[in-house]
Amino acid sequence: MTQQTGQDADKRPSYKDTLNLLETAFGMRANAIHREPELQAFWKEKGIDLDLGRNNPGPMFTLHDGPPYANGALHMGHALNKVLKDIINKHRLMQGRKVRFVPGWDCHGLPIELKVLQAMSQEQRQALTPIKLRKKAAVYAHKQVAGQMAGFKRWGIWADWDHPYLTLQKDYEAAQIDVFGTMALKGHIYRGLKPVHWSPSSRTALAEAELEYPDGHTSPSVYVGFPVVDLPAGLRSKLKEQGLDVPADSNALSECLQVAIWTTTPWTLPANLAVSVNDRLDYCLADDGNGRLLIVAAELCDSIASKLERPLQAKATVKGVDLAGITYSHPLLERRSPIVVGGEYITTESGTGLVHTAPGHGVDDFNTGRKHGLPVLCPVDEAGTLTAEAGRFEGLNVLKDANAVIITALEDSGSLLLQENYSHRYPYDWRTKKPTIFRATEQWFASVEGFRTEALTAIDGVQWLPASGRNRIESMVSERGDWCISRQRTWGVPIPVFYQRETGDVLLNADSIAHVKALIAEHGADIWWEKDEVDLLPSSHSAEAHLWRKGTDTMDVWFDSGSSWASVSSQRDALSYPADLYLEGSDQHRGWFQSSLLTSVAVNGTAPYRTVLTHGFALDEKGRKMSKSLGNVVDPMVIIEGGKNQKQEPAYGADVLRLWVSSVDYSADVPIGAGILRQLSDVYRKVRNTSRYLLGNLHDFVPSRDAIAISDLPLLDRWMLQRTATVLDQISEAFERYEFFRFFQLLQNFCVADLSNFYLDIAKDRLYVSAPNDKRRRSCQTVMALIIERLAAAIAPVLCHMAEDIWQNIPYPTGTESVFLSGWPSVPEEWRDESLQAPMQELRELRAAVNKVLEECRSKRKLGASLEAAVRIEARTSTLQDALHWLQSKGDQEVDGLRDWLLVSQLQIGGEPWAELLASDDNELAVIEVALSRGEKCERCWHYESDIGQHSDHPSLCGRCVSVLERR
Ligand SMILES: [Zn+2]
Repeated sequence: MTQQTGQDADKRPSYKDTLNLLETAFGMRANAIHREPELQAFWKEKGIDLDLGRNNPGPMFTLHDGPPYANGALHMGHALNKVLKDIINKHRLMQGRKVRFVPGWDCHGLPIELKVLQAMSQEQRQALTPIKLRKKAAVYAHKQVAGQMAGFKRWGIWADWDHPYLTLQKDYEAAQIDVFGTMALKGHIYRGLKPVHWSPSSRTALAEAELEYPDGHTSPSVYVGFPVVDLPAGLRSKLKEQGLDVPADSNALSECLQVAIWTTTPWTLPANLAVSVNDRLDYCLADDGNGRLLIVAAELCDSIASKLERPLQAKATVKGVDLAGITYSHPLLERRSPIVVGGEYITTESGTGLVHTAPGHGVDDFNTGRKHGLPVLCPVDEAGTLTAEAGRFEGLNVLKDANAVIITALEDSGSLLLQENYSHRYPYDWRTKKPTIFRATEQWFASVEGFRTEALTAIDGVQWLPASGRNRIESMVSERGDWCISRQRTWGVPIPVFYQRETGDVLLNADSIAHVKALIAEHGADIWWEKDEVDLLPSSHSAEAHLWRKGTDTMDVWFDSGSSWASVSSQRDALSYPADLYLEGSDQHRGWFQSSLLTSVAVNGTAPYRTVLTHGFALDEKGRKMSKSLGNVVDPMVIIEGGKNQKQEPAYGADVLRLWVSSVDYSADVPIGAGILRQLSDVYRKVRNTSRYLLGNLHDFVPSRDAIAISDLPLLDRWMLQRTATVLDQISEAFERYEFFRFFQLLQNFCVADLSNFYLDIAKDRLYVSAPNDKRRRSCQTVMALIIERLAAAIAPVLCHMAEDIWQNIPYPTGTESVFLSGWPSVPEEWRDESLQAPMQELRELRAAVNKVLEECRSKRKLGASLEAAVRIEARTSTLQDALHWLQSKGDQEVDGLRDWLLVSQLQIGGEPWAELLASDDNELAVIEVALSRGEKCERCWHYESDIGQHSDHPSLCGRCVSVLERR
């Protein structure tokens, strides 16, 4: 209690200083910019996070971090992901589990390579060797990792920051080589052809990021009729049912029935091996008026007719699936090929609805070809010249003279239906500014077919949250083709193979893998570029090193990150494999969840995780994607430290960012924006001020000296503990289910409805007016102490800084120096007393009803403070009557008075209606009458009492206050 400073102009004594006022250093404002880093320094100095994770008694909990790409500033997606992980880890730590969160970064790949290249001049680029590029890329990646790591730390994320995993680390790369090697030795890795973007002008494969699509590209498109030579019996009878009889003889058939296709790359026609249809589309056989039937998509029949400038009359209509099995002959080459079912990429947006399919020259074509066992024919060389496989077109260049010659040949054969120029987006080489083509090249593949069944079984054994994740990954894995894992890039982990210079034979065996792995474990993957074959080959081959050439391909970065289970969760001390949890955005069913699953299943026959949890994406408040052009990007650093204009973008601190993560239902996409942040900061302030009120009233409370036994507590206090127990149960369940938005709602409701507006509202009189050591005050402090400790612990996973700040400001010894050492909050059984629930519920409803009437009086300015009021209540239900009786008979006289709970000066239950009312209400629960209280206002406690003026020393005080002063 502070001393009276005197100097009152007023002659009467001031009673303000005889009240027990709030006293705490825990501020109303968070001052997060300064306070949060202080608290983080405290954790670091004491080693609390890592020590706890190591020394806890419980079993290890392994949340394996999915590596963000080491490029660019942190955004809200990172915040959602890393804070969710941190909430889970902190909760598990407080539950007594061991936790070692190893943060990861994905460091290889084209975007970083391009960043390095873009920062160089043309001359510098030309002088660049692969090893120089790799060194520069590594420097760039390390710098990016450092920047992102600083951001994560500022968010309050706990992790083993001094020992992260980076996909460019030696031991990581060695483990990845091991994964590749094991898959190869098990027969899951093979070399095959696959179409890629190819630039004939620079004679290299290109990645999507190296392409540009200039305006004004025109291609010579052609409509071509392929003569049909054979019909499946089923189709023949279906046509017959529709009255259409087609000849059985091949020659006769080819004269009168043609499959119409359309292509913008006539040079690919020599590589045609099939025509693909969409099995669900309708196709018609249309008479073109010249005694010929054309097969086209029914929906396109009219538009094709007008293009061809001749009527097309549908004679029969069938589904795409019915066309499968038709055989046609190539119009230019001696070759017969089938109609096959393609996929949903076949539409009626353009063309004929039947797609010319050249597996060596298109991705859809390749996939369809793979499905139907077609070879990957690619009669085009590095320079874009047609090879001998193109027959009489050999020697023509596909970007120069091939199209014109082929179109003329089509015309001569009578199969050209129409030629027209077609403007469309077409990929060009970003360096040479020349058009590119699709061309099949030799690539390395992981044969998913070899372990698909095992992968599907593994999926079945994993818990997917939300459950829809299972279907997503299941259908992706069951439908996916083989995994092309090679890239023609420099910044990556090498595919550790050697090619025989003469024969092209491949050296890839246990010996060669072990040798390369050991070299990389010692020196890092740079060794592959630094050393010659003689040093890279195993001793068994070093004598004939001149015969061998090391491969130049690197691995797909998804293979890098997909091997993280091998280099992190299964290798680092104490971590568990399979990991307990993987947690990433829902796009990772296609990405990391899948690549990790495939490598882990291929090597060990098991999924690398037990549970997979996914989250959606951060959108703006209107549900739009964030983009610079829309100006709706929310920057996590601006949330924490404020923007340029701190009025519009105040510094909310990391805890408000974390509170946002907890508040959203992340199973779907989640919104964020200025309005949402304002609301969150209100909630944050409510929790903070409730905590401050609890702390401020505990300044003279020492539990060991002052606490009241639970069994001796008044009903109100016991109810408050019972309520706290219920809320903590629900919060624990929410954490267990990773449903943090429920925690957010429970916390808000507990602080506002249960504490602020009810328990603490009523408690003011007990806390301020009573003598410091009065039981009615000590009992309330007992409850407040029990609650503040548990509240701090329960919010610690989310609001870690505020929780620690509360803990540091608990005025009595707690026995632990950090809230995180206090464990996940539990409650003694004696807190639980279900019998309090029903009557208290009645009384709280009554209180709400009375407050409504009092509020009405206040709004009409008939009443100031509620203590000016007198209230009469007539219960209308027997349950309320029971509750009133219960309170009267079982309640503590000093605390459990309904008059005090209602914050009024006089209360009458039942009796005659009053005459002079300020307001009244007659509802289902009770008749409520409000009048002005009689008596005078006590200067100290503000109650209206009739015994004021009876004490000569304190003429303005009520008898209760006088007796308090006498006891002080
Ligand atoms: Zn008083």
